[in-house]
Amino acid sequence: MTGNIRAPLREVIARHGLSASKALGQNFLLDAQLLDRIARVPGDLRGASVFEVGPGPGGLTRALIDAGATVTALERDHRCLPALAELGDAHPGLLRVIEGDALAMPLADVLPEGGHIVANLPYNVGTALFTGWLSGEAWPPRWASLTLMFQAEVAERIVAAPDSGAYGRLSILSQWRSEAKIAMRVNRAAFTPPPKVMSAVVHIVPKLAPEGVRAGTLERLTAAAFGQRRKMLRASVRGVPGALAALEKLGIDATRRAETLSVEEFVQVARELG
Ligand code: SAM
Repeated sequence: MTGNIRAPLREVIARHGLSASKALGQNFLLDAQLLDRIARVPGDLRGASVFEVGPGPGGLTRALIDAGATVTALERDHRCLPALAELGDAHPGLLRVIEGDALAMPLADVLPEGGHIVANLPYNVGTALFTGWLSGEAWPPRWASLTLMFQAEVAERIVAAPDSGAYGRLSILSQWRSEAKIAMRVNRAAFTPPPKVMSAVVHIVPKLAPEGVRAGTLERLTAAAFGQRRKMLRASVRGVPGALAALEKLGIDATRRAETLSVEEFVQVARELG
C-alpha cells in the first residue's frame, strides 16, 4: 500500500546526499523486513504514539508508521530533514519531525503520556539517553515501553544476571522497576555502513516499583558498590552512610562482592538507607 509510493531508502539516501557521519553515530538500516520486525517488538502500535530518536533517512520511521503509529522523530542532522519531510508528506498527520539534540530535549515535549520510545540509537549517546529515561523518582515513567538498538555488549549489561562480568549498575538500573529483555540480535552486516560490533534490540517495560526505595539512593549505592567491583562490600560501600549497618541488619555478608548481590538485595539495602 503506502510503501509502494515511497522511494527505496537507498535512492532517498543518494538523492539527499546522506553519506553516513561517524561523528553522529550514523549506521543506517535499509532492510524493510528487519525494520518491520523491530517495529513489532513494542507490540500493537495501531493508534499509539511513538517517539523516535535519530530517524536518519527514515527507514525505521516508515516501519513505525506502517505499524499504525503516530511518530514524533527528533533528528540532529539537518541533512536528513528534506527526506523526512517527503515521508511526512506521504503520510499526512502521522509524522512530526523536530530538528534537535535528544540529550537536550525534555521527554514531555516529544512524547505524550503512555507513548512508546523506539530507536536505532546513535552509539555515542545511546547509554546516556537510556539512563536518563530510567532515572528519576517518578514511576511509572511517561513511556509505556522502550525498544532500543544497542551495541550487543551494552544490551548484555542491561539484561545481565548476578555473578556475570556484564552485571553492574546498568543491569540494576534496568531491572529494579522494569522488565528488560533482548528482543533480537542484529548482525553488523545489516547496517550501512556496518559498525565494528554486533548489535541487539532491547525491550523494556516498566513494572511496579518496590515500595519505600528512592532511585537516587539505589543509584548512589550501586555506584559505590560497582565503582570498586573487585572489592568486598565492606570496603566498597564504606563511604555510603548506613550501608554497612544495613547489610548487617539484612544478614548480607559484607565480605561478598557487588556482583554477587541480586537486584532484590540491592533494593533491600537501599530501602534500609531510606
Ligand atoms: N533510524 C535510522 C536507521 O535506523 O537507519 C538512523 C539510525 S543511526 C544509528 C542514528 C541517528 O541518530 C542518525 O540519524 C544521527 O544523525 C542521529 N543522531 C545522532 N546524535 C543525535 C542526537 N544527539 N539527537 C538526535 N539525533 C541524533
